Amino acid sequence: GKGAAMVTAVAYRLAEHSREIAQTLSEFRLTTEQLLDVRTERYCCDSATVKMLPTFVNSTPDGSEHGDFLALDLGGTNFRVLLVKIRSGKRRTVEMHNKIYAIPLEVMQGTGEELFDHIVQCISDFLDYMGMKNARLPLGFTFSFPCRQTSLDAGILVTWTKGFKATDCEGEDVVGLLREAIKRREEFDLDVVAIVNDTVGTMMTCAYEEPTCEIGLIAGTGSNACYMEEMRNIEMIEGDEGRMCVNMEWGAFGDNGCLDDIRTEYDRAVDDLSLNPGKQRYEKMCSGMYLGEIVRNILIDMTKRGFLFRGQISETLKTRGIFETKFLSQIESDRLALLQVRSILQHLGLDSTCDDSIIVKEVCGVVSHRAGQICGAGMAAVVDKIRENRGLDHLDITVGVDGTLYKLHPHFSGVMIQTVKELAPQCNVNFLLSEDGSGKGAALITAVGCRLRQELNN
Ligand code: BGC
Ligand code: MG
Repeated sequence: GKGAAMVTAVAYRLAEHSREIAQTLSEFRLTTEQLLDVRTERYCCDSATVKMLPTFVNSTPDGSEHGDFLALDLGGTNFRVLLVKIRSGKRRTVEMHNKIYAIPLEVMQGTGEELFDHIVQCISDFLDYMGMKNARLPLGFTFSFPCRQTSLDAGILVTWTKGFKATDCEGEDVVGLLREAIKRREEFDLDVVAIVNDTVGTMMTCAYEEPTCEIGLIAGTGSNACYMEEMRNIEMIEGDEGRMCVNMEWGAFGDNGCLDDIRTEYDRAVDDLSLNPGKQRYEKMCSGMYLGEIVRNILIDMTKRGFLFRGQISETLKTRGIFETKFLSQIESDRLALLQVRSILQHLGLDSTCDDSIIVKEVCGVVSHRAGQICGAGMAAVVDKIRENRGLDHLDITVGVDGTLYKLHPHFSGVMIQTVKELAPQCNVNFLLSEDGSGKGAALITAVGCRLRQELNN
């Protein structure tokens, strides 16, 4: 009768919905061929969009580093000021004190002067807290943005990335901006010795414990890698002997269109609404700041098409940035019952049915899985390049890693590591988590910088 017809109609519509949902999500499932493309495209695109910036770091630590250093860590999830005490000799120790400071949105996106005054204000607070205002400490500045360096202590900001957009900084020497802000305050003096990308700090921190570490990887708010390149391959720097660490700035990979085949309409939407449209396209597919935004765009589309949230787009769903890495990580946790997924969504202000929560979890799953694959394909290209550089059939190497996505997400790291295995079978890659990489690494690099300066003066 009529009832049976209605049940059939509903069942038919649901089947149609799940078919369309599956269709949409299938765009995120990359084949091995597509991943191999991402790996090899990196070579052809190198000069075009991957910047390969020299860092003036020529060696990994040798254990003789020592002294008291200040470090700043700007550009990740938190802004931090640190005091790092390194002791060398028979019992090497590194003691760290640090404080986290907030950087209000209006400061991140205000004027450069306001941003650097704020940073110096935080340093001032920290020095008071440690009772060290009169010490003129050497400082290492971990500044996690692309910089064109001309020495260890000079770096011109190429472009802001992630959530930053302060005026009058791009094209300027960031160390100069910091020194001027310290002068303006007329309260204490510091010796700025090094500007350091977070990938480089991470590599150095791991290399301090593990000498085979010659690559640094950040999978966090942003995405990037550095590695020890042969001097003969670094055109911008004179000399053919030895190696120098190169900051790849791989987040900009794809900015010339070479990733367009695998970008979806959701990737394009996220890019269009970002602070830097058209830039950092690779980063926007695989880093913490954007994964949640991709998820949100898919959910909005699915809601519009009537597959989710009873077709109602809530104000919450319209809010940018609601799906932070920690929420994605919770939603995708295997131990979580669907009821708990619903309560996380509830907490975010999203009223879900049981079916909704299944779909949301699946959406998060495909997006983070693809991110792990894409990041792994990039890493496969790097390790294979190093292997070829050294004319080896087989390479054993360690990657120092840091970043919230790598640390917090239940599946990202596993997928990434598996992808590297599959795409770089001639390399045996060991991933080492770098605890507090940026701070410690900046201090180690500063120590080396101080030593070199003394050698020059003698
Ligand atoms: C920046 C890199 C940085 C990475 C990870 C990217 O947005 O361009 O310099 O290493 O984020 O923090
Ligand atoms: Mg960081």
